[in-house]
Amino acid sequence: ATPTSIMVGTGRAAEMGVLFRKGEALQTLREAEVVALDKTGTLTRGRPELTDLIPAPGFGADEVLALVAAVEARSEHPVAEAIVEAAKARGLAIGEPEAFEAVAGYGVQAAVAGRRIAVGADRFMARLGIQVFPFAEEAARLADEGKTPLYAAVDGRLAAAIAVADPIRETTPAAIAALHALGLKVAMVTGDNRRTAEAIARQLGIDEVEAEVLPDGKVAVVERLKAGGTRKVAFVGDGINDAPALAAADVGLAIGTGTDIAIESADVVLMGGDLRGVPNAIALSQATIRNIR
Ligand code: ADP
Ligand code: MG
Repeated sequence: ATPTSIMVGTGRAAEMGVLFRKGEALQTLREAEVVALDKTGTLTRGRPELTDLIPAPGFGADEVLALVAAVEARSEHPVAEAIVEAAKARGLAIGEPEAFEAVAGYGVQAAVAGRRIAVGADRFMARLGIQVFPFAEEAARLADEGKTPLYAAVDGRLAAAIAVADPIRETTPAAIAALHALGLKVAMVTGDNRRTAEAIARQLGIDEVEAEVLPDGKVAVVERLKAGGTRKVAFVGDGINDAPALAAADVGLAIGTGTDIAIESADVVLMGGDLRGVPNAIALSQATIRNIR
């Protein structure tokens, strides 16, 4: 490609809200065969809301919500914000946590008013030796609705099942349809619950799902999709834990409203978080290269 055609191509992309940080990405993108996307904050808005709280026998819904909100007030995870917002909306008094601990990809725990509170995914409860099977049916139902089931424990006892839901971005279905029309395979990579991820993938017609991926596991997924360098892979993400995968992919595309570290690790930035920029950029890359030949 000539420098002029690259300049014209990146200029046209900018008009569509797609910012090329590296010119060579315009040439690599046309070879992409797989587009892997992070779920939370990429396919979805990244602003989950609390939808359900089912207390275990002996616990009150507001009692548990106030306790977990006290712990989550210290967390920066989007799930935490949903829980704190819900407690505030109900006008609950949120206590001060002590000895707060966040376990990335699992959950959070702290002491609140002399009680040990833990909240997080089923694998977090497993780590703490707390059985979640009393909520197995509810959790499966919630996950099949595309919600993320979480659990709360108080003093080592299962206290509630909680669900949060993160709405799919309005532009996501059209973006996926356009990627399929270009003949690409679409994969989802997420730390979220497998059943939840599969429900959302089904809704969106996504071809492949990698769920319950730990924060440092996304690079391994990208490497596997690359199949020893025989397939070109584009990765789209927004979060801190997407940065290594954005760098490892043949082309990394970051959500413009995402974290700084994701943007710095990416070759391409999607302004306003519009995923239709991904198929647009690929189509443009194909057209640009055709014009030079
Ligand atoms: P993702 O953001 O893709 O869900 P993470 O690795 O950040 O991936 O988290 C994986 C899972 O761990 C979350 O889906 C959630 O179930 C649980 N988790 C992480 N942090 C928290 C938290 N602060 N509160 C409750 N659950 C959490
Ligand atoms: Mg994300």
